[in-house]
Amino acid sequence: AYGQGEGASLGERRKTRQIRLGNVPIGGGAPIVVQSMTTTQTADAAATLAQIRALAEAGADVVRVAVPDKDAAAALPAIVRATPVPLVADIHFDWRLALAALAAGIHGVRLNPGNIGSKERVREVVKAARERSVPVRIGVNAGSLEKDIVEKHGWPTAEGMVESAARHIRFLEDEGYREIKVSLKAHDIAMTVKANRLFSERFEYPLHLGITEAGTLMAGTVKSSAGLGILLADGIGDTIRISLTADPVEEVRVARMLLKSMGLKFGGATLTSCPTCGRCSVDMIPIAERVERRLANLKGEVQVAVMGCEVNGPGEAAAADVGVAYGHNGVGLLFKDGKIVKRMKAEELEEAVVSEALRIASERAPK
Ligand code: SF4
Repeated sequence: AYGQGEGASLGERRKTRQIRLGNVPIGGGAPIVVQSMTTTQTADAAATLAQIRALAEAGADVVRVAVPDKDAAAALPAIVRATPVPLVADIHFDWRLALAALAAGIHGVRLNPGNIGSKERVREVVKAARERSVPVRIGVNAGSLEKDIVEKHGWPTAEGMVESAARHIRFLEDEGYREIKVSLKAHDIAMTVKANRLFSERFEYPLHLGITEAGTLMAGTVKSSAGLGILLADGIGDTIRISLTADPVEEVRVARMLLKSMGLKFGGATLTSCPTCGRCSVDMIPIAERVERRLANLKGEVQVAVMGCEVNGPGEAAAADVGVAYGHNGVGLLFKDGKIVKRMKAEELEEAVVSEALRIASERAPK
C-alpha cells in the first residue's frame, strides 16, 4: 500500500511486468519513473546533452530525444556516451533510424512496429533490440490512430486506442519479444483515463502515462495533474511525463511534485506555505518563491513550512522538519522537529530556514 496521509492510503499499485531501461527498472513495483523530452535539435549533440543534464539535475529518471532524421541519428553515439540518465529514441516510421539508434547504444526506443513496414523490418529491429536488451515503447495517440480503427469506431475512442496498442503489441509478440511498455495518450482526460483503465485490465505491460498537448505551464500542469492523478490513484502508471509548452525542466518539476504530493515519490524538499491573508505582516509570496527556488533539485528528503502568522503557522511549522511562522512586530519563530528553537527578526528567518533545510537534506541525501 502507499499514501502518506494519516491513516489514508491510495490503495495498491497494479502489478505490471518489469522491464529495464538501462539501469532504471520500470513496472513490477519499481518506483514511478519521471520522464521528459529534449526540445533541442538532436543533431546538435552539445546542446542536447546540456539539456539532458539539466533535466537529470531537476530529477528526470529517463529522457527521450526525437530522432527525426539521419543527422539526429548520427549525433546519438556522442550523446549516449555522455548521458547521465537512460535515453529513449523517439522514432516514427523509419526503421533504419531505429537500427541506427540501437547501434548507437540507445537504452530504449519509442516506435510503433505496425508503422515501420514489413514483417522483415520489424524482425530486424526486434533482433537488434533483443541483442542489446532494449525495450520498445509503443506510443498510441488518439490523434493518430490507424484509419481503419477510426472508421470502425466512427471516431477516435478509448476502445480504439487499446485496439491499436494490441495490434502493435502483436507485432512484437509474434517475434517473441516482450520487453514492451505502452502509452495511450489523448488530449482529453476522460479518454486517456478510460483507455489506460481498459488496457490495464487486459495487459500486464507497464504503462507510461501522459496527457498530450496539455498546454502551457499553468494549463498543462492542471490538466495533466487532474488526468494522471485519477490513474495514479487507481494504481495505474509506471512512468509519467507531463507535456508542457514550456522549458522541459518544468515538466520534470511538475511530475516530481505530482508524485510527491500523492505520496508516490520521495526525496527533495516539500514546501508547505500558507496562502497568506490579512493576518500576515510580511510579503509572503516572494519569500515562499525564493525558498522554493533555493531548495529545488535537492536529493535528500526534507519537509519545510513557511507560514504567515502565529494563528495557523505554528501547527504547520511544527509538523515540518524545519519551519518558520512569521509574527507581528517584525519577529517570528523558527521551528525544528516540532519545537520552537529560536525567536528571530523576520528578515533573518528566511536565511535560517533555508540553511537548516539544506543541512538536513544533505545529511539525508542518498550516498
Ligand atoms: Fe493567514 Fe496565518 Fe493562515 Fe497564513 S497561516 S493564511 S497568515 S491565518
